[in-house]
Amino acid sequence: MINILSPLEFPKSLLRAKLEKMLECARAQEVQDLVLAQGKTLALWRLDQVCPVASGNKFFKQALYWQAAEAYPNMPVLSFGGAYSNHLYALAAEARRRERRLIAVVRGLHEGELNPCLSDIANMGSDIHFVSRQDYRRKEEAAYLQTLAQQWGPFVHVPEGGGGLMGAFGAQAIGLAAAESPVDTIVLAVGTGSTAAGVLAGLDLACRRLIRMGGEPLLKRVLLVPVLNLECRPGQKSVFEDIQALRLQMASINTELWELDAEIETDKWITWECCDGFQFGGYGKFPLSLTQFLSSFEERFSVRLDPVYTAKAMAFACQLLAGGEFPELDEDLIPNPIPSSYESEQVLFIHSGGLQGRRGFGLL
Ligand SMILES: *Cc1c(COP(=O)(O)O)cnc(C)c1O
Repeated sequence: MINILSPLEFPKSLLRAKLEKMLECARAQEVQDLVLAQGKTLALWRLDQVCPVASGNKFFKQALYWQAAEAYPNMPVLSFGGAYSNHLYALAAEARRRERRLIAVVRGLHEGELNPCLSDIANMGSDIHFVSRQDYRRKEEAAYLQTLAQQWGPFVHVPEGGGGLMGAFGAQAIGLAAAESPVDTIVLAVGTGSTAAGVLAGLDLACRRLIRMGGEPLLKRVLLVPVLNLECRPGQKSVFEDIQALRLQMASINTELWELDAEIETDKWITWECCDGFQFGGYGKFPLSLTQFLSSFEERFSVRLDPVYTAKAMAFACQLLAGGEFPELDEDLIPNPIPSSYESEQVLFIHSGGLQGRRGFGLL
């Protein structure tokens, strides 16, 4: 079983070239201006369109894992996810494109017909391996991964969600491209926080490069919207701490990779906060207020969002820019109104994709 956990296991020149290429992809995605009440605008960055199948942030997060897999052309890639996993879906699409075999280890024993997500994954040529919830919990244990290797043969392991430093490295491309936007406030949905850490690391990198060239530092504010209830992570650190730790590790990797001054800290200029209270009951919960918001938003702007991540972050962004414009939100939201310290005239909203997951909620 092959486990690659750090970007520094690759040659530096390759990493730099890889990031440049990803940056091109991020830059090339459309930004749509949506006009809200009082003339405020939301610049919607359509990263969901980055690839027709492997949409959104997963495309960026998985890039370095695929790079790692190239060294083992005869091994399948194996990863983990739930029955509507955007991560497995994107991996399956890329596996097909690269003519690689993917073993998708799915949480829970599903009987009968495959759901639409799993049936797409199977149709893209991946093997689906159902495991009990108990076994699934062991997904990071070496002994359990060994058992899977006995069953399936040696594989390249991509951890659940494709996060960590490898995931954050690819997501830096999003931050580097965001650094070029004239909009200074960025809103992003947060699950594990690897994408967020990557975006922050990309902004930090852009800022340090500007300073090195004698320019003014970059000023950006990142508002992160967690979709998991913090208390749902018993015994674990908060997502805030996870992001902070990954971000610092990324900063030191970048120092080495781009030969930057390790002394420069960009915390004064690149600020970020976790905007709590927009979980709508917790991960995967989709209460009536959110359903109503989603349909009014989609009707008005003809843009689709996913119920698990982007709809919740968008509820925050709309409430921030134009509180009261979507009255269905008012009841469910804590804090309500949003603290005035967040106030913004314009927001760059990162559409992180996930649209295939709508089918898990009966939406097309
Ligand atoms: C996975 C996912 C996220 C969360 O990404 P993290 O790196 O885990 O924070 C956000 N939006 C969409 C659409 C996703 O599929």
